[in-house]
Order: sequence, then C-alpha cells, then structure tokens
Amino acid sequence: MASDPYLQKRQAMVENDIKGRGIKDKRVLEVMGKIPRHLFVDEHLRDRAYADYPLPIGEGQTISQPYVVSLMTEALMLRPTDRVLEIGTGSGYQAAVLAEIVKEVYTIEIRKSLADMAAKRLKDLGYKNVKVKHADGYSGWEEYASFDAIIITAAANHIPPPLIKQLKEGGRLIIPLGSTVYYQVLTLVAKRKGELDVEQIGPVAFVPMVGEAQRRK
Ligand code: SAH
Repeated sequence: MASDPYLQKRQAMVENDIKGRGIKDKRVLEVMGKIPRHLFVDEHLRDRAYADYPLPIGEGQTISQPYVVSLMTEALMLRPTDRVLEIGTGSGYQAAVLAEIVKEVYTIEIRKSLADMAAKRLKDLGYKNVKVKHADGYSGWEEYASFDAIIITAAANHIPPPLIKQLKEGGRLIIPLGSTVYYQVLTLVAKRKGELDVEQIGPVAFVPMVGEAQRRK
C-alpha cells in the first residue's frame, strides 16, 4: 500500500484538536485517526482537510470542524449494534465516522448534487453499511425506523417531531438547536419512558436546516 501523505497531519489533528480538547472515547479517537478526511473535500482543499475549522463542500455548505464531529459522535454513546440516522449528509464524512463505529447508517441530504457525490464517495471508500437518500430529512426515514441514535448536522430552531418519533426508547438525538443565523446550542436529547431528557453541550455554528424546518418556524 502506498504511504499516506496525510498521516502526520491526521495524527496531529487527533492529538491537538480532538484529544487535546477533552474527547476521550477510544473508538472515536481511533476512527478520526483512520478516516482519510482529505478525500471528503475538493482537491484544492486537501492540504487544509485536517485543520481546526470547517471547509466548504459546494452549494454554500460545509464539512464540520473535526472537533465538532468527534464531540457529536462521542455524545451519542454509540454501540457496535446500533442503527443510526443522520440528517445532512453533506460530504459524507460524519456518515463515514458513524459507519466505522455502528452497524448501519442511514443518511439524508436535501441537495441532490451533494447526496450523489457523498453516495459515490462512500461507495468508492468501501462503506457497505451506509444508505444515502436525497430528500428533506425533516420527516426522517420511516422505512428504516426506529433508530438507536439520530444526528442532525444542520441547525434548526426546533427538533422535527417525526425524528423524535423515530428515535427508539432509550435512544439519543443530537442537534444544533436555536437561531439558524448566528450560532446554536449543541443539544443532546435522551428519550426515556417517552419523556425527553435535555442536555445543552455548548455553542456551535452550523448551516441552517432548510425545507420543512424553515416553513414551521
Ligand atoms: N455532516 C456533513 C456536514 C453537514 S453540512 C459532513 O460530514 O460533511 C449540513 C448539510 O445539511 C448540508 O449538506 C445541507 O444541504 C444539509 N441539509 C440542510 N437542510 C436539510 C434537510 N432538511 N434535510 C437533509 N439535509 C439537509
């Protein structure tokens, strides 16, 4: 196998920006140190793929900062047998991170060109446990519900009710919640006996969830 020219940058990212900021989950650290993030961005951005900020992926959208990807993934406390739903496929990077950790990943992207690109990329990288759908993620993915965990990687001012419905009892959901213009509060929700336990993790800045989420403001 050819040597990986990005190995050093990737290791530095894990040490400084992820571990260094308090992410402890061994599986998350391992996976962030393994996935070729540079293959999820345009060729001219590859040198910056492991930097401590989000990058453009076209259509005004972004691939999240590595730290935020690991923070959200860790918060879900995933198990190898889990089935996870992601809203906002974008580049497919977060889906790949999930796919390395859990059994099945279902991911929905509203912009067709991004959905198509991510699906091809994930297939080329050999991920067989990820299904990509081009649709508005507001209504979730009924056909494959319910899910052990749900991750929403676009900002909304409310949690789409269909997603709460499609979350298993005992399951966890994470979403950047609040204003879709400036920043949001990363919010973790656990479903227990039909009730929601809500925990605010901290401020983040995500692109807005569009479609139904904006009509229901
Ligand atoms: N998780 C992605 C980054 C997400 S950026 C990654 O790892 O690269 C947010 C994405 O959410 C964008 O691609 C945007 O098009 C998508 N999005 C916005 N509103 C959506 C909706 N209603 N349903 C599905 N995807 C949506």
